[in-house]
Amino acid sequence: MKIHEYQAKEIFSQFKIPVPRGSVAHDPEEAKRIAEEIGGARWVIKAQIHAGGRGKGGGVRIGETPAAVAEIAEEMLGMTLVTPQTGPQGRLVRKVLVEEGVAVKQEFYVGAAVDRAKQCPVLIASSEGGMGIEELAACRPEGIVREWMDVGLGLPAFQARNLLFGMGIDASLVRAGTGIFSQLFKVFESHDCTLVEINPLVVTEDKRLLALDAKIEFDDNALYRHKDLLELEDTDEQDPLELEASRHRVNYIRMEGDIGIMVNGAGLAMATMDLIKQAGASPANFLDVGGGATTEMVTKGFEIILGDKNVRGILINIFGGILRCDVLAKGVVDAAKKVAIKVPVVVRLDGTNVEEGRNILAESGLDFIVANSMADAAEKVRGLGASKARNPKSEIRNKLE
Ligand code: GDP
Ligand code: MN
Repeated sequence: MKIHEYQAKEIFSQFKIPVPRGSVAHDPEEAKRIAEEIGGARWVIKAQIHAGGRGKGGGVRIGETPAAVAEIAEEMLGMTLVTPQTGPQGRLVRKVLVEEGVAVKQEFYVGAAVDRAKQCPVLIASSEGGMGIEELAACRPEGIVREWMDVGLGLPAFQARNLLFGMGIDASLVRAGTGIFSQLFKVFESHDCTLVEINPLVVTEDKRLLALDAKIEFDDNALYRHKDLLELEDTDEQDPLELEASRHRVNYIRMEGDIGIMVNGAGLAMATMDLIKQAGASPANFLDVGGGATTEMVTKGFEIILGDKNVRGILINIFGGILRCDVLAKGVVDAAKKVAIKVPVVVRLDGTNVEEGRNILAESGLDFIVANSMADAAEKVRGLGASKARNPKSEIRNKLE
């Protein structure tokens, strides 16, 4: 689960990680009032969306009077912000963070994440903070220092020093920097995070360290132990179809393509996505209805796939094990009767009760395209998506079939 920058900064404050003074605003008047309360001569107005790269997209701006702050807030609120991380469709800005403007001398990157290969948390630091860390990781990975953590030990001083000297911080700031790293790791560990990032951590003109940006992501699988964090969830930032799916315990992730898939088992779902790619088409989603799926869950899954307007065809690929083919078929038929299906549906069923399943589909009176194997399914799906033009031969074959 992701949270907004202003919420992450509230957590930082609780853990004594210094952040600029500021507060979240929902309208221009409130933005102006916050600027007046903070005082000073420069304020930063920052769009609050669950995506980074805002600086590059016009989502971080400076106002020099409270009236200018209100004006900028007015422009930002309600705008669709496009950044390198939002995709071309962008994100609607519903809140802005108004903060004191800070005179920045130096920008660093610091963060904590999970190293899945090493199976432990890793602290990361770089002298090249600010807006280019992704490029740095790609082009010059040696510019990034890492220290792997033993969760039982906390952060030993020598590891903090390795990071701080590695990122080239001034010796006079090593003590303050050690404090920030150890608090950052406490935030990470105590909230079961998958990511805590300060980019940039800055040295101000008056030689203080300050977290100018803040990003926190929690491990969804651990949220049951942090009921209080659920309050921080902003459902406006979630894909409405993914939200709907999670409410019904359907494992669905939306993607860019146009072939909707419904599969049982994450492994088979991955294989099915590969299959679609190899056939020259592109999957519109990942959807694992799971082993213990009920007819209701299958119906819901089908509705969710159809809720995606990009979908031009659907592939149902089920290997009946715990989930029997007849249960799946009944769910599909129920869903098909409930929602008008305007796209072709290819069904490949195999395993437990496959005959019963195929009969239910055949007797439904609905127009399913039955595939007899994975290879056959790939062949039949090939003609459905936008990329079919790339495979003219098979398109002709499909027409002949
Ligand atoms: P992001 O682009 O979404 O990661 O947003 P950030 O919060 O990191 O802001 C982008 C950039 O704006 C930062 O890297 C800073 O260089 C700059 N910035 C943000 N706040 C201030 C500020 O108070 N003073 C100055 N001088 N620069 C700032
Ligand atoms: Mn940033």
